[in-house]
Amino acid sequence: MREWNSPWNPFNSAKVLIWREWLEACITGDYLPPVTVDIDLSRHCNFACPFCNAYNIINNKLPNLPIKHWLEVSDFIKEWGAYSACVAGGGEPLTHKGFNTFIQYQWQKNGIQNGVITNGSLMTDEHIAVMAENCRWVGFSMDAGTAETYIKLKGIKKKEMFRKVCDNIAKLCRHIDKINSKCDVAYKYLIHPDNAHEIYQAAKLAKELGVRDFHSRPVGFDNIKPLHGLTNEAFRSVVDVVNEQIEKALELEDENFHFYGIRHKFQPNMERKVAFKKCRAIPLIATFGADGNMYLCFDMRGRKDLILCSHYPNPREILGIWGSDFHKNMINNIDPKTCPRCTFGPYNEIIEKVFLNDSMCRYFP
Ligand code: SF4
Repeated sequence: MREWNSPWNPFNSAKVLIWREWLEACITGDYLPPVTVDIDLSRHCNFACPFCNAYNIINNKLPNLPIKHWLEVSDFIKEWGAYSACVAGGGEPLTHKGFNTFIQYQWQKNGIQNGVITNGSLMTDEHIAVMAENCRWVGFSMDAGTAETYIKLKGIKKKEMFRKVCDNIAKLCRHIDKINSKCDVAYKYLIHPDNAHEIYQAAKLAKELGVRDFHSRPVGFDNIKPLHGLTNEAFRSVVDVVNEQIEKALELEDENFHFYGIRHKFQPNMERKVAFKKCRAIPLIATFGADGNMYLCFDMRGRKDLILCSHYPNPREILGIWGSDFHKNMINNIDPKTCPRCTFGPYNEIIEKVFLNDSMCRYFP
């Protein structure tokens, strides 16, 4: 099962070993400030993807938190010591009017690296300029290689939207080249029975648009609702197609275009994989929800029993909670088998195998 041509890439989970001190602190319970944070800038979305992992927290009726607050959050995370922020979940980040202000403030004032995931439908030339100058990466949730599949998987009606978003991607790529920015653009592709057959086509399109990375992975399907009645069998039936498509797409690689068919976080049949006994890695990240709450885990946003505290109006409230018995007990009580797809699964596995079991003889070359 080939996932990439070069292991030196952002989707290789072994990179967590760079954060050795943080992992050791996760084991002892003396948690360090998080390496990174998730910022859910907006709880609104103009799309309705059936596999959205935020479907239960998107609320287009309630207002978003004011930008003034998010700038205070940015100052706080700088002071706390985080290095980067993923501005993505909870809703579509570009539906927050203060998006550009936040992204610029983060990088230019606080030196925090931004990563953004967007559906790309609301991008203006101003967004493009701001992202190119202030983001380390921008990922576009595409999940399709044709307009027909796109509207089906995005829950929208207008086929023209696919072309519009493709044009926005190409514009961003051209602007990045023009200003010689280090911002990587990714075409993101959640693999689903309805799009499994066009992974290669999408990768070819992505390369033509000028993106640097194509990132595909199975959608976390077995516990994200509503899935329109899809069964595990529907996913199993496309495993061979997916493997063939990924093999073919890997041949498109050159020095400017990289293809990633990420499957190591899943079982070979694309079902959820839990290869660790306990949750330990989650204090590597802090999650600032669009609803003003801080959640224990970004994969479990919206779960009332996993709220650590509020960050609105005072982002510093978390300092009294982080590393407390309350925080540690909440993590200790997690049963990984009951979690949705665990993004940090490989990190939890590395803690057990490398640090606790010393399976790699860590003190030998
Ligand atoms: S999904 Fe569960 S096991 Fe994974 S990091 Fe989140 S709380 Fe921990």
